[in-house]
Amino acid sequence: MSIKEARDMGIEQFDVILISGDAYVDHPSFAAAIIGRTLWDAGFSLGIIAQPDWKKNEDLLRLGQPRLFFGISSGNVDSLVNSFTPNLKRRSSDVYSPGGALRRPDRAAIVYSNRVHALFPAVPIVLGGIEASLRRFAHYDYWSDSVRQSILADAPADMIIYGMGENALRQVALRLEKGERIEEIRDVPGTEVKEEVARWKKQDAAHQDHILIPGYAEVSTDKKRYAQAFAMHYREQDPFHGRAVVQPHPKTIIIQNPPARPLQTDELDRIYELPFQRAAHPSYREAIPALEPVRFSITSHRGCFGSCSFCALTHHQGRIVQSRSIDSILREATLLTRMQGFRGIITDVGGPTANMYSLSCPRWKNGTCPDRLCSADCPTLDKDHSRQVDLLRRLRQIPGVKRVFISSGIRHDLIMADSSAYLEDLCMHHVSGHLKIAPEHISLEVTQCMHKPPKDVLDAFRERFMAVSRNTGKQQYLLPYLMSGHPGCSVRDMIELAEYLRDHHLYTEQVQDFTPTPMTASTAMYYTGLDPFTLKPVHVPKGREKRIQRALLQYRNPENYDWVREGLQMAKREDLIGETGRCLIPGHRTGHPGSGRRKTGKSQNRGNSGNRGNKESNGRTKAREKRI
Ligand code: SF4
Repeated sequence: MSIKEARDMGIEQFDVILISGDAYVDHPSFAAAIIGRTLWDAGFSLGIIAQPDWKKNEDLLRLGQPRLFFGISSGNVDSLVNSFTPNLKRRSSDVYSPGGALRRPDRAAIVYSNRVHALFPAVPIVLGGIEASLRRFAHYDYWSDSVRQSILADAPADMIIYGMGENALRQVALRLEKGERIEEIRDVPGTEVKEEVARWKKQDAAHQDHILIPGYAEVSTDKKRYAQAFAMHYREQDPFHGRAVVQPHPKTIIIQNPPARPLQTDELDRIYELPFQRAAHPSYREAIPALEPVRFSITSHRGCFGSCSFCALTHHQGRIVQSRSIDSILREATLLTRMQGFRGIITDVGGPTANMYSLSCPRWKNGTCPDRLCSADCPTLDKDHSRQVDLLRRLRQIPGVKRVFISSGIRHDLIMADSSAYLEDLCMHHVSGHLKIAPEHISLEVTQCMHKPPKDVLDAFRERFMAVSRNTGKQQYLLPYLMSGHPGCSVRDMIELAEYLRDHHLYTEQVQDFTPTPMTASTAMYYTGLDPFTLKPVHVPKGREKRIQRALLQYRNPENYDWVREGLQMAKREDLIGETGRCLIPGHRTGHPGSGRRKTGKSQNRGNSGNRGNKESNGRTKAREKRI
């Protein structure tokens, strides 16, 4: 809302002003919209400054001074993940800006905070969003190749709201409204605050419920201490039994309160049924590229219990799945049918993992098991997909809905542990020829490092998928996401994967090369060379070896010939160089299997560099496509 719009409504001063690195899009997939609508719903007036020009004062002064606080976020994605390719090349466009324009500074949350603090030194600053949330402890920063302090130590902010922050933000706003000062609000679940070192030391007795993890000085100089600190704060990310985590920094003490309680179904329903326009602000003349793929999609749930090592969702949304009611989702779908531009296609119904909707564990009401990860093998987890089958059937019956697609990734191991008709319905109605799954690798050592199901689960799923496709009379393909360069993965492991692709006549179009994004277990391995949970050494491919690994995933691409050859020689697997059917590459550069595919000679080995897609919290993209 602009100051003029506000004055037309009789608002002279906003309660809260949100500043975001994204263009403003009033859609529940966009953080500023969901947070803004939640605060508005709680009775607060709200101004939003989207993508301010941080080099000048005008944009930041435009809405005046808020009565309670500034809320600052880099946007839906970490600004460095958003602005750089995994090879650290600067991207030429930003999908969260009108026309893809570049309008976001690097380390946006810090830059905006500095500017706002300089202009309004007395107004509290509350950080939120992925960038702040996943940089809340001292962390390895791939872009500077260094360990950085918690973002709360680097920015002149008072607090971070981490994770999905609606309830925490509402609580903080209400307490400020009642007259508490921001320095007095120390205990809201889902927040992180800071304390002066001298004051912290004076309050020793008050710290008994906290867990003290190695501080910045230690983790930035000692890799083992970094790994230990990571494992310690990882174990406290449970909303029921997690304790407050304290990490000393040179000039401040960082205190993470336990995570916010998961939202109940009625709370989620209320949030997602707020009156979103599902459109960009009318002032934009050009389209926001990130909006189009999600405009007619529906979020059905939050949370993911997969705990994949390279994904930071455990640190952001948590392991406990929180699902909306079927009725609420049906109401949202019905609303979509009345919206301008809706052509009968719901492009996605899902969450972090599509087929976790409504799955649950009876123990979650008291928290997740601290000593093991949730998985399809756990006998206590309810893996019945029947409610999802019911939801999808009822969505298909809504007048005006022609197709309902599932575009979010699915966990194939959960489908294998379930006997409902979910896979049949998925193949029959909800995928357009391709089903995305994410085995990521097939070598046991690598899948263990990634916390991914082993190869035999993938094999069993492929067979079941093919049988279902045959029965439904549809020609369908699996799109498996595969990853190279992950910690724990050697050139030999990549050769094993390449042989698997060869033996199963698989074809890989694009390569996901591991990127160490903030606060994942894989990033802790990448930086320290240790498994943070066992402290055992882990092989970390870097530099030339990482490039070879990526090439092996696309061994048929002629442009990769020299890299693949070098990898095979390195692993003493020259038996795979030659002219027999088993060979991955021929003895000479030209005429090897698969080279005929690329008659134009144009590169198809783009890695992720040209592949933006819809980024998720771990920085991966949804646009990677490989076909079985
Ligand atoms: S019982 Fe199984 S599914 Fe439930 S919290 Fe424990 S590990 Fe997770």
